Amino acid sequence: MRLDRLLGQHPRWSRRHVRQLLALGQVRVNGQPQHQATWEVTRFCRVEADGELLQAGQAAHYLMLHKPAGLLSATEDPLHPTVMTLLPQALQGELHIAGRLDRASTGLLVLTNDGNWSRRLTDPASDKAKTYRVTLANPVDPDTARVFAEGIHFPFEDIVTRPVQLEQLGEREVRLTLTEGRYHQIKRMFGRFRNPVLALHRESMGPLQLGTLPQGQYRRLTDAEVAAI
Ligand code: URA
Repeated sequence: MRLDRLLGQHPRWSRRHVRQLLALGQVRVNGQPQHQATWEVTRFCRVEADGELLQAGQAAHYLMLHKPAGLLSATEDPLHPTVMTLLPQALQGELHIAGRLDRASTGLLVLTNDGNWSRRLTDPASDKAKTYRVTLANPVDPDTARVFAEGIHFPFEDIVTRPVQLEQLGEREVRLTLTEGRYHQIKRMFGRFRNPVLALHRESMGPLQLGTLPQGQYRRLTDAEVAAI
C-alpha cells in the first residue's frame, strides 16, 4: 500500500495534514524519515508518524538451507517428510520455498516469508543465474552443450528453454547455468540424450552461494545477501 494511503487511514488526519507530516519529515519508515507519498509500504515496514506507531511491521525471514536428498521441497505433505522438519517449529508455518528442488536433489534452498523478494529471485524475467552440478549415468554427448545453448522444445508446455550454459567437469559430470526453473527441467533436458541424471546439486541462485554450509543445516541470509536480490 502507498504510504499516503496508510497515513490517510488515521481517523483524525486530513489529507492536508498527511501532506504536511510528509513534507516536515515527521513520517518514519523503519526508523528513517520518508518524504515520498508514493513509497510502497509492505507488511514488514515499521511506520511511525507524528509520534504515533501506525504499523509495527512483521519480522521478515530470509534463510538458506542445504537440502539433503530424500526430503520434499514443500511446506507440508501427507506422505513424505519435508525440508521444513530441518527448521525451528516457530518458522515452519511462516515460510515458503523460493525455487524448489526435486526430492532426490541436494543443495541450496532459499526460504522466506517475503513474497515480493522471492519473486525477484525466481522470476525468469529477472535473469538470475542458477548453477547446478549434475552427475550423469553415461558420458556427456559432445552435442549437449550446443543443444542446451540453443534451447530445447518442451511439447507439454510448448516452450523453448532459455539458453543453458554447460561446463564440462568430468566425463559424466557438468555444471549447468540456467535462468529459469521448469518442472524437472534438467532431467528432461538430459532425457533428450537418453542420459539419466544420477545426482543434481544446486550451488547458487543469483548472488546467493551455498558455500560450506553443511548438509541439513540452515542459516539466515546476511543483510547484504537480502539486499542483493
Ligand atoms: N531440474 C531438475 O530436473 N531437478 C531439480 O531438482 C532442479 C532442476
